[in-house]
Amino acid sequence: MSDRSDSRRTCVGCRQTERPGVLLRMVIRPTAVADGTDAGAVDIATVVPDPRRRLPGRGAWIHPDPGCLQTAERRRAIGRALRVRPGAQLDTELVHAYLTDQVREDREQVDTS
Ligand SMILES: [Zn+2]
Repeated sequence: MSDRSDSRRTCVGCRQTERPGVLLRMVIRPTAVADGTDAGAVDIATVVPDPRRRLPGRGAWIHPDPGCLQTAERRRAIGRALRVRPGAQLDTELVHAYLTDQVREDREQVDTS
């Protein structure tokens, strides 16, 4: 109605649709290839969390939930959603760290209150 109901995003993990505010946006940060020849070099696509939704490029959306991240990785859904070149390695370390921090903060807030 007053809300734009068509602006929904799909979690790449559990595939539920949500409003964008619920989901965490992720984008690929292009990694500079080590200098020298790139012959035989493996492309590494670093996935970075984009909670402010400001980073350019194609985004993938996921619940801020480590379970959804694991599911998405198992399905290789992140690479597909972000159009990562086949054969490139996906580095989701930063997203894992981000979600772990979120979980820890939640727990601390619960502890203090
Ligand atoms: Zn999900």
